[in-house]
Amino acid sequence: MSAKKPQPLISRPKHDRCPVCGEISYSQTGVHPQCAMRQADAKRMKHIARKPAAASRKSVDAAKPWQRICPKCKALQHIRKKVCPCGHTFPVPSTVSQR
Ligand SMILES: [Zn+2]
Ligand SMILES: [Zn+2]
Repeated sequence: MSAKKPQPLISRPKHDRCPVCGEISYSQTGVHPQCAMRQADAKRMKHIARKPAAASRKSVDAAKPWQRICPKCKALQHIRKKVCPCGHTFPVPSTVSQR
């Protein structure tokens, strides 16, 4: 008897390999929960890491004519403010005499 039976060979592996670390994962998604978290975290960290540089550059460039940057804390303050919240006192224009 040489009836050819469609023999199911080794069916698909039960567990996929985690695309993050390459190890076999036993979770349904095929990705280790901690690996998925790590991957998501890495993406998020990249996203965050790029932000501060752009923001700090913007704060310097964004000084409007009615604004000035406090030399002490680098914060933008309205030009009419005499004292910065950080305690720095802005030099008073000579046109305004203080007595
Ligand atoms: Zn993994
Ligand atoms: Zn200040």
